[in-house]
Amino acid sequence: MVKKVAIVGAGPSGLLLAHYLLRRSDKYQIDIYERRSDPRIIPFSKSRTFPISLSARGMNALRQIPGLEAAVKAISLEMTGAVFHQKNGKARLTPRKQSLFTLDRTSLVIVLLEKLNEKHDNSQLNIHFNCQCTQVDFAAKKAIFKQVETETDFTVDYDWLIGADGSRSVVRESFFGTELFECEQKYIPSDYKSIFLPRPDANVETNLKPDKIHTWTLDDSTIFLLLHQRDGTISGVIYFPHQNNQLIGLSSKEEVIKFFCEHFPEVGQLMPESEAAAFLTRPISRIITIRCNRYHQGNSVLLIGDAAHAVSSSIGQGCNAALEDVVLLNQLLDEYSDNLPTVIEQFTIRRQSDAHALVELGDYAFPASKSLLIEFIFRELISKTLHRLFPQRFSPSLFELISESTVPYSEILNLYQGWISKVKKSNQI
Ligand SMILES: Cc1cc2nc3c(=O)[nH]c(=O)nc-3n(C[C@H](O)[C@H](O)[C@H](O)COP(=O)(O)OP(=O)(O)OC[C@H]3O[C@@H](n4cnc5c(N)ncnc54)[C@H](O)[C@@H]3O)c2cc1C
Repeated sequence: MVKKVAIVGAGPSGLLLAHYLLRRSDKYQIDIYERRSDPRIIPFSKSRTFPISLSARGMNALRQIPGLEAAVKAISLEMTGAVFHQKNGKARLTPRKQSLFTLDRTSLVIVLLEKLNEKHDNSQLNIHFNCQCTQVDFAAKKAIFKQVETETDFTVDYDWLIGADGSRSVVRESFFGTELFECEQKYIPSDYKSIFLPRPDANVETNLKPDKIHTWTLDDSTIFLLLHQRDGTISGVIYFPHQNNQLIGLSSKEEVIKFFCEHFPEVGQLMPESEAAAFLTRPISRIITIRCNRYHQGNSVLLIGDAAHAVSSSIGQGCNAALEDVVLLNQLLDEYSDNLPTVIEQFTIRRQSDAHALVELGDYAFPASKSLLIEFIFRELISKTLHRLFPQRFSPSLFELISESTVPYSEILNLYQGWISKVKKSNQI
């Protein structure tokens, strides 16, 4: 019998899951509910987006659906390393063995949507925008949604409900009414704002190479990350401490430009007044991390992606891990012949230690303090060299394992527990 699947959230994980399920012949009838408008029809300036880099795990997940990897690569820029900029104008390059692919979240979502619509008509798939899940009744297998524009409620029956609704998941919230569910939610100590710079004028000299991720760290743990985009524009994210940060005092576009010229001169010269003004009014966002003791409820509900294990963006793995969840889920559907109650229970069993390790790595793999940053760069360099020379005796560096391999996160955490403890300790001082 065809199973009625309701996916809450048309983000990267929900959309990729739809691709995978629809490939499993006609076993599933899929409805995706997304609280926001269709990103294909709203102007880019109105979408809340930020750059995302996809590494081995994410690309591996996309590759298994014909045409997806190529479509994503076609709108991404290939990154071959990272440049750590210093205040004195010097910079340190750390090359990568494998490239990263960077694009903004909205473009990734649009490509996943377009490919879904290209391959599947609405006999098996329907996508409902502006529909916000507000509640789930697990016993009755019903989810309640609000049509955002008309403010009217409607109810959906499901055989299988997927909570792919991000770090502030409503589906996950509903788990709290069930027995023995535990979930730890923490704010990371930094807030962030996105930055969008136009394509640099041809007559402006810049050392920001387009195929590198550029980062700066200030004494107060402000971290600035900048990436070129395929269309020649440059986007970035500035992370700054929630308390006592230097950005809170900025009140005019002139002050914004002065701040960037002083701390990130390479960027200050590229910032037009219009972006400085937009930066001032752009809301400050907070990131939460999530650790749950299970991802399934009963025999029919499952959390995936950020809803299950939101992670700090400092290691660039949230989306990669969200896409990797779909690969595991598909593997379990194969192993257990689409027996959903078993599959969702097994998902918790098989994913939990990696999801918890992912959050730990996100919190502590990349040091926030400037003093540990030099040691971090040094350690990466030494590990990479030793592994290249003696691959049997030395494992790849921490970041090679995180972003250039599909080695389970729990194994990586075990291997690098010493460094993680050191960063953790330094954060507590
Ligand atoms: C600044 C920043 C930089 C990042 N950089 C990287 C990076 O470089 N690499 C990387 O791998 N990851 C990165 N991430 C993390 C990445 O964005 C997330 O991990 C990823 O988007 C998770 O995908 P998802 O589909 O699980 O959830 P989301 O992308 O959050 O999508 C959830 C969807 O559900 C919808 N939704 C929410 N609630 C409801 C509801 N009640 N009803 C209906 N719909 C709902 C939302 O509108 C959204 O479209 C970054 C995150 C941030 C904030």
